[in-house]
Formats: sequence, C-alpha cells, structure tokens
Amino acid sequence: MARIDARALTRELLAFNTINPPGLERACARRLGAILEEAGYKVDYHEYAEARTSLVARVGEGSKPPICFTGHIDTVPLGAAPWSHDAFAGEADGDRVYGRGSTDMKSGIASFIAAAVELAPKAARSPGVMLVITAGEEIGCEGAKYLANHGLLEPAGAMVIAEPTANYPYVGHKGLAWFEIETHGKTAHGSMPEVGDNAIVKMARVIDDLQGFRFPVDSHRVMGKPTLNIGTIRGGLNTNSVPDEARLTVDTRTVPGIDHALLCKSLEALLAPRGASVRKIVDCAALYTEPQTEWMQRVFEASAPFAGGRPTPKTITFSTDGADLKRGFGGAIPAVVLGPGEPTLAHRTDEWCSMTRIDQSVDLFRTLMRDWCGI
Ligand SMILES: [Zn+2]
Repeated sequence: MARIDARALTRELLAFNTINPPGLERACARRLGAILEEAGYKVDYHEYAEARTSLVARVGEGSKPPICFTGHIDTVPLGAAPWSHDAFAGEADGDRVYGRGSTDMKSGIASFIAAAVELAPKAARSPGVMLVITAGEEIGCEGAKYLANHGLLEPAGAMVIAEPTANYPYVGHKGLAWFEIETHGKTAHGSMPEVGDNAIVKMARVIDDLQGFRFPVDSHRVMGKPTLNIGTIRGGLNTNSVPDEARLTVDTRTVPGIDHALLCKSLEALLAPRGASVRKIVDCAALYTEPQTEWMQRVFEASAPFAGGRPTPKTITFSTDGADLKRGFGGAIPAVVLGPGEPTLAHRTDEWCSMTRIDQSVDLFRTLMRDWCGI
C-alpha cells in the first residue's frame, strides 16, 4: 500500500509558487495528479485559462455517489511586510511549518491526499472518493465556477472543504456579493459649479441610501445578520473641476435565502433615483448544512477529539469554493468546512500550520472516508 507523508507533501507543495495573481497552478496540479494516478485514481485536468489548472480525481464504483474532498492550490500574495521565514521552502520550526499556503490551504490538500492514497485499494471497491483540487479560488472561485458551469463534475454525496479551521467542523459560511456602483455628471470649471453636475455629490447621496439598505432576510439562526460594507471610493480628477464620474465598491455578506441576482436588482431600484448604475463584480453563494443532518452529526462525532469536545454548530467567516461545487454536483448535499490550517493565520505574513494538526486531519479524513465507503 502506497503511503504519503502529509507533512512532507505539505512542504513539497509550498515550493510551487501559486500566488494568485497570476496563479499558474499547472505544475502543482500535475504533481498531485501524478501521485493520485499512481495510487489508482482516474484523473482529469481542466484549465479555465492558460496554466490555470484544476483537477478532478475519482476512485470507486457503485450506486451511491462518492464522498468529495476539495481544496484550492492557489494562494494570496506575500504582502508588503518582509517574512522572517522563506515563504516557499517549507521551513519547519518546532511543530510549525512556515510558508505561503501552509495554512490556506496546501496542508489541507496534503492531508486528504494522504488519506485518499492510503485507502485507494479498498475505496476502489466501494462508493469511493472524489478529490476536486481547484485553481483560482482566491479571486472569485474561478476554477470551481468553471467546473460547475461546464458540467465537469459527476455527483458527489457529501463534501469536505479542507480550508483552515484548526480541525473544527463549520457547517457553512455566508455568501459574498461585491458590487460596483457608478454615478455620472457633467464636468465644469471648479469656479462655476452651478453649470456642472457633480458626480461625487450624487455618490454622497448613494452612500446615505446604502446605509439605510435593508436585506430581504434579517438574520439567520447560526450565521447571524447579513452585512454591507462600502470598501472603496474614487471620483474626480483635479480639485478645480466639477467631477463627472464617481465609483465605489460594496462588499455584501449574505445568508441563505438572499438571492444575489435579486439583491442586485434591489440595489438598482434603491439607487435608480440617484442615477447610479450597479454592477455585480464578484459572486459566491452562501453554504449551509443543517447541523442535525445525519452525516454532519457523524462529522461532529469524528471531530470531537480534535475540537476540544463535541462541536456546536458554527459557521466560518470566510468564503469557499463549496457553494459553486455543490451547484456543480447538482444536489443539496451536506458539506462541512474542516481542515488543519489555523483560520487566524490565513493570508498573513509568516503564515504557518501545525504539523500535529496535519496528522490529526489525516486521521479525521481517513475516518470520514472509511465511514462513507463502508471500508
Ligand atoms: Zn482558502
């Protein structure tokens, strides 16, 4: 039986620079595909753009669909602050392995690959395991959207998204919809504002309107309230002109029951009297599984030893590929966000992951695969 050391694989994956932009995940995806093929998986690569490679690997047979484990191989940039450890060398220090993507989320991928390779011979004669390893998650879940939109995913029965949760199982996350709002006016000399039409003044009214915006769903019993944040604003070219254009971007975080297309329409309706245009620029749906679902209860039970006791239902703050993949699987399947990385370290300078947590994840993922496959 082939064995993969998840700690060593994490360090190996850190050496692939998959900073997004530009991403360029092909080499990393091919390396993982080679490991999985050797273990008996059928592997398909899908590129949504040059060298932006996702892969889908599958082992198993039978009438029940497989259990899916998923993760993204792209990472965010290093940031402006200097690192005290090499971001690509997989430097270890005590229990920590440092590097960009160590927590978010190459350790999660290494952990499920270790479990999946070990169980491959038995899983081949069972409903089996599907691994979906995506490119381009950090900027709008592009890889996952491509797989879903092009019908490249066979049905799965349940999904583990191995994003950083310190091995605590989260039952979902809010949705995310970003909008760009523009106002237009008429330029004029700054000494004669009365002959112009000031786009910034219009935008000030838009901001007032946005502050008073009410979402169609007030609150969710686990996720809490949806939110709206005005993140950027730009307008005007020089102080002595009346500005004829202003633009702002808005980040909304939504709960189940809020449809993003309808949300865009309500913002348009709200801001139409100001002459403002609204455009949705990023869209990731919310993800939620009822905690009482039988499979989720089993995940809670299996995670309890690593989560400091029986978990209580919680959702995580960040967004994932999960909602797009779930759509691609064509069904309302249960999904959990569960992985070895430290959620507080994602995207940070000197990101690291605990190697003990990586070992725990391999254990936990092995248990979940065995349970699902009856092996
Ligand atoms: Zn991530």
